[in-house]
Amino acid sequence: MESQIQQIHRQLVDKEISCVDLIQEKLSALKENTYNTVNTLLTELALEKAAKVDAKIANGDTIGLLEGVPFGIKDVYMLQGTYATASSDLLKKYKSAYTATAIQKLLDAGAIPIVKENCDSFGHGSSSENTIFGAVKNAINPELVGGGSSGGSAVNVAKDHTVFSIGGDTGGSVRQPAGYNNVYGLKPTYGRISRYGLMAYASSTDCVGPIAKSPEDIRIVLNTMSGKDPKDQTTYSSEAISQDSILNTVNIKTVGYFKNFIESEAIDATIKSDFLASIEKIKAKGIQVKELDFFKSDILVSTYYTLAMAETASNLSRLDGTNYGDRVDDKDLKESYAVTRSEKFSEETKRRIVGGNQVLSQGFSDEIYLKGLALRDAISENFEKDFGDVDIILSPVTPNTPPKIGDSLKDPLTMYLSDAYTVGFSLGQLPTLTVPQGTETGLQVTAAKNNDELVLKFANFLKDTI
Ligand code: GLN
Repeated sequence: MESQIQQIHRQLVDKEISCVDLIQEKLSALKENTYNTVNTLLTELALEKAAKVDAKIANGDTIGLLEGVPFGIKDVYMLQGTYATASSDLLKKYKSAYTATAIQKLLDAGAIPIVKENCDSFGHGSSSENTIFGAVKNAINPELVGGGSSGGSAVNVAKDHTVFSIGGDTGGSVRQPAGYNNVYGLKPTYGRISRYGLMAYASSTDCVGPIAKSPEDIRIVLNTMSGKDPKDQTTYSSEAISQDSILNTVNIKTVGYFKNFIESEAIDATIKSDFLASIEKIKAKGIQVKELDFFKSDILVSTYYTLAMAETASNLSRLDGTNYGDRVDDKDLKESYAVTRSEKFSEETKRRIVGGNQVLSQGFSDEIYLKGLALRDAISENFEKDFGDVDIILSPVTPNTPPKIGDSLKDPLTMYLSDAYTVGFSLGQLPTLTVPQGTETGLQVTAAKNNDELVLKFANFLKDTI
């Protein structure tokens, strides 16, 4: 599919459509949709912005590429004056006091936010069922889950309710729902986009991630949001990626894949054969393909969940009903904290807080948490070695196809294992993109740190190859 952003820009400039009509049409589609993707519609704000874009065009002023383009925001980002619920009971009436840097950059470029999107509460989940707004339904088959945690965002893009959406990816939450709904979803290199104003889940792997229908739209949105931010000390400045550079696909020579991912007993037989068929098509284009050794999936999943739970237990400790969200009063302050947190956090979130505090506690932290940190270093070293040998690592996005709504809630361990192929790249802080090709849940394209450009280039190469 060609760039929808470029297309809408042309239509607006040529006065083929009005911005108010465009926004109105998307808002109506979102309002009527039965996929549970919407937490809050930003009707007034969006229409006001759209009227200004129309006035500019009528006045003969030039407009920027993103000006007037409607987009969605996972409900874990701050947008001043609007609800930021994290799909949780605790924050269901909480309104943002400020705007996240990444979102502000999109606003400055003239893009129009139209919806805060449903997701797993605080990013905890892989199915978007852990939410007070009802399970998000899959865009292709509504009996299946939308994927998670950025399920509402991926389904909105797939259904054309938004042109692009901004998800958040800690261990796969952009890439996995993108795969489940056949769209593109990027987890950029950690630190390329500021996390300021994104509710922290696991700060050491949290990334702001765009979801869209073409590599070109991902490129445009990525460029707009990237950059060093004094409010997030882990950010770095990066050069804008040009359209020409990602269209020129000649300099990719070697692709690797993890043998153990594909030989694992847990992989669906069709995902496996489709993946291997894709590898053959890549070879047929003259690219050298290497099999690589990697850590076993269960080690990746347990390392990721050890660290993610520890970090979320720490990050969510601020939510005690005092400064943010609802409070349930009890006999004294300590009891009020306890009752608020017991009643207002979901089962899944509580499981993670308890698990996180356990791995951080005296007597356990050396055995578990510090071991997790050491494994993460070993995983990063492994990646460094691999990227000495290959330009790109290709992988399926998930070992299996999307489960039926209801199944993941019954079996959290199976849900954690469904993240087997995404969490390793998060621990490595690498740029990784889901492309809706190759297997039923897509392919994951990964490059070395800061090489987001190469990932988009390879996505364009795959468009013509498989
Ligand atoms: N499914 C993973 C988890 O629950 C990833 C979530 C995310 O990236 N926010 O931790």
